[in-house]
Amino acid sequence: MSKENLPGLYVHIPFCRSKCPYCDFYSETESSMISAWQSALEQEMLFYRNRFSTFDTLYIGGGTPTVLEGHVLLYLFDQLYRYFHFTADAEITIEANPNDLTGVKLHILNVCGVNRISLGVQSFDEQDLLFLKRRHTVCEAEKALDLIRTYDFSNVSIDLMYGIPGQTIEGWLKTLERAVTFHPGHVSCYQLTVVEETKLWEMQKSAMIKMPDESEGKAFFLTTAQRLEDHGYLHYEITSFASGEKNRSRHNQKYWQHIPYLGLGPSAHSFQHGKRWWNHRSVAKYCHAFAEGKTPVSGAETLTREQLDLESLYLGLRTNSGVELTHLTANRYFDALLPELLKAEYVKIIGQKMVPTKKGFLIADRLPLVLM
Ligand code: SF4
Repeated sequence: MSKENLPGLYVHIPFCRSKCPYCDFYSETESSMISAWQSALEQEMLFYRNRFSTFDTLYIGGGTPTVLEGHVLLYLFDQLYRYFHFTADAEITIEANPNDLTGVKLHILNVCGVNRISLGVQSFDEQDLLFLKRRHTVCEAEKALDLIRTYDFSNVSIDLMYGIPGQTIEGWLKTLERAVTFHPGHVSCYQLTVVEETKLWEMQKSAMIKMPDESEGKAFFLTTAQRLEDHGYLHYEITSFASGEKNRSRHNQKYWQHIPYLGLGPSAHSFQHGKRWWNHRSVAKYCHAFAEGKTPVSGAETLTREQLDLESLYLGLRTNSGVELTHLTANRYFDALLPELLKAEYVKIIGQKMVPTKKGFLIADRLPLVLM
């Protein structure tokens, strides 16, 4: 396997201190399952220890990984380094919540080899944070960013959210401007979306809130791209901005480029040799599977060559790397579609690649429907 195609390892930490009303990621607020989850996770590592080659990325996500106490984090990394191999320059990311970060915890993360922190700030506006029911304040987020700078992390990513009811473009721009004063190597900007069965969905159904309409969402997106580009950030994926090529998320690029990845923990997804599989979305079921001598896999699919081609096509259109034209000529759906996409200015041809325009980024999530 060539160096640029080395697999990535993801570990899902299924615990949060409280549940945010918009969130669809799997997590539990009950911490009594932590030790059972730890031993199940070790069994899962043992199961996969010889099934993947050396990893060049490790991403600890969730949930909220930083709710784990220092000794649990130390043990987790100790297990990961014992059972798996990583390249010397591996990108090692952890998602963090601002008010979990103390000097001691940051020191532990440094000792564990973490070199990238993805901080869930979401907004530098107190009203937005109250709406999102985040458990940190603006001041705590700022203090966390100042504290992180005093430790040895080569990249810090700030996660932000727009399209929050009550938020204006002017308010959002203030958040963006505040974020860049911390000189993050990476900024992720997500639009708040309503997912079924969440509290936000119930609030929308009962007309308690009004979400931005499509044109407002578009205005937020284009303003974001323009402002961060004005500050020198590279808009390399729909939601992702990097202060330079080297600060792109190496791990996330694996998802967009069909590079193999292994996901450990409840609800985690994996991909290898054209096959995708995913674990139970429940800590109890995940632990129970091991107790019964089974793996915690709850579903799997093997993609045909045609499905893989189509997927890599629309995944490629999420990023400014685009898609090789030679790849497109092999795709029978695309021959007819390419002229339309060019005419609508969703894509442009650069050298031997088709790359999305800003307008294309706006429809990239709907592109699978267009292509099917
Ligand atoms: S902290 Fe993150 S993972 Fe946990 S509920 Fe909130 S958004 Fe979801």
